[in-house]
This record gives sequence, structure tokens and C-alpha cells, in this order.
Amino acid sequence: MTNRDDLTVRRNSQQRRIRMMMNAVKSEERAKLKGGPEAVAWVKEELCIGCDQCTIVCDDDAIEIYHTPLKSPIMNVDNNKKAKVLRDPCTGCKLCVLACPTDAIVMIDR
Ligand code: SF4
Ligand code: SF4
Repeated sequence: MTNRDDLTVRRNSQQRRIRMMMNAVKSEERAKLKGGPEAVAWVKEELCIGCDQCTIVCDDDAIEIYHTPLKSPIMNVDNNKKAKVLRDPCTGCKLCVLACPTDAIVMIDR
């Protein structure tokens, strides 16, 4: 019969395997993203949940959070946050794209 320790060992091993697979997929995605001086980040407003993660990773102060009302069929929220990229300071480093939990940021041609 499987005991608790066996289960923990198996669970940890599965966690390591999944983490390695996800890191491999992330590296592939990262390599495919365009970046550098010819590219600039762009926020798809409808996907942004205003979580602030992108502003934390952006070293170039190229992302601003602004407030806008949220209106939907189920609720109205007066103060809702969204992110906006400032084109000039953006260096195209792609960090915000990797940090965004909702895939709201894409890299586009400058
Ligand atoms: S990390 Fe993504 S979801 Fe969060 S504020 Fe920035 S763009 Fe919006
Ligand atoms: S690509 Fe880099 S510089 Fe541009 S907004 Fe994202 S984190 Fe900031």
C-alpha cells in the first residue's frame, strides 16, 4: 500500500517534471518574441486586470497605470486600473510581456 511519504516523494518528482516542462516552453516563447530598439510593448486593454506586475518589472518607467470605470452587464466599478506603455522610454526589453499574468502585453513594431 502507498504511504504518505511515498506520495510526497512522487508529488515532488511530478512537480519538478512539470516545472522543467513549463520552463522549456517559456524559454521557447521568450526566444520567439520580438524585442530590442525596433519593438515596443503594447497593452491590450481588454485583457489588462490592472495588477501592477508590469510596472514592477519595468526598469525604464515606461508603464503607467491609469484609472478608468469598468462597465459590464453584471457590474459597474467606478475605479478600475489599466496599464499603458509609454512608447519613448520603452526599450523593448520584453520583461513586462513575461511578467503579465493575463498575456495582455504584446511586442509590436515601433
Ligand atoms: S501585468 Fe498585465 S494585467 Fe497586470 S497591469 Fe500589467 S498589463 Fe495589466
Ligand atoms: S518592454 Fe521593457 S521597457 Fe518596454 S514597457 Fe516592457 S518592461 Fe518596460
